[in-house]
Amino acid sequence: MTTIICTECGAQAQPLDWRCTHCGGPLDFDELPPFDAKAIIAGDFSLWRYRAMLPVKRRISLGEGLTPLAKTKIDGRALYIKQEYLNPTGSYKDRGTVTMMNHIAAQGVTEVVEDSSGNAGASVAAYSSAAGIQARIYVPESGSPAKKALIQAFGGTLVEVPGPQQAKTDACEKAAETTTYASHAWSPYFTLGQMTAAYELWEQFGKVAPDAIATPVGHGGLFLGLARGFRQLYNAGLVDKVPRMFAIQAANSDPIVRGWESGADEPVLYEVQPTVADGIIVKVPVRGKAVLSAIRESDGAALRVAENTIVPAQETLARHGFIAEPTSAVTLAALPQLREILPETASLVLVLTGNGLKNVER
Ligand SMILES: [Zn+2]
Repeated sequence: MTTIICTECGAQAQPLDWRCTHCGGPLDFDELPPFDAKAIIAGDFSLWRYRAMLPVKRRISLGEGLTPLAKTKIDGRALYIKQEYLNPTGSYKDRGTVTMMNHIAAQGVTEVVEDSSGNAGASVAAYSSAAGIQARIYVPESGSPAKKALIQAFGGTLVEVPGPQQAKTDACEKAAETTTYASHAWSPYFTLGQMTAAYELWEQFGKVAPDAIATPVGHGGLFLGLARGFRQLYNAGLVDKVPRMFAIQAANSDPIVRGWESGADEPVLYEVQPTVADGIIVKVPVRGKAVLSAIRESDGAALRVAENTIVPAQETLARHGFIAEPTSAVTLAALPQLREILPETASLVLVLTGNGLKNVER
């Protein structure tokens, strides 16, 4: 029996709670199955090859996971590119959505709500349709028309909310009082699926850990999933270290970097500004505290990149064959800083999270 508890007060939660009903804190698994290399199902070419390590039953799948790892060289630096944007709906979100929606489907739910300006909305819409569940997706009225169209194409119902990014989250949380909230930001089942990206990297590197990993960070689900996945491998005696984990944020929305620089345990909350890296505009990172702790434990860092470096980094990635969103390109924009920290020989993975085909405009 899987137990979900509050990370703040320790209270036990019900299966469909999205946050602690006592103190509002984020929820997490009390305990996860240990990683067992012998339990990998080698003939399953999706993240379900790790099903023995996932406390959720597969009812639906779109073949998510097992994304390519490519080796390239940019500005004279050898890099590994983990192409998470090649998941079924074009973003890393699918790994977490599939574990979250399978959990929700197992509870007999018929309708969910989610708030997202793009990738998570499309992902939840697609997996809800696959599970026969209605999805209402709260988006900012000012959001990208292409991303809204994608949500609808996957069968989601759009609820357009005027005002700043936070307004759609507030409206969705209100709706969640009477409906199941399939939240990529809050659900521990979302972070659970992200752990499989670590297991894949371990397999793709020949059963060793890379030296360092850089990911864009908004709420921190992917970042934490990777850190936890490698911690599981370490605990199983399968790697001799956890990779140094680098959380990259845009200067206009960098609460975790501010927390890191001030030596605090928590993100520094302030009025974040719009950025072209729209997937990581987050005022209150739900798992910010856990992200900061994972950075410290792995000898990593939180880094910010200037707004005017993001689109050039996206263009550079495209000229090397990687069609990523601006949000994903923050990882490459951070390369000059990463090179100051890491030896040139250190194996460095940039995780590209969202497909740039969703916003090609020219
Ligand atoms: Zn609590």
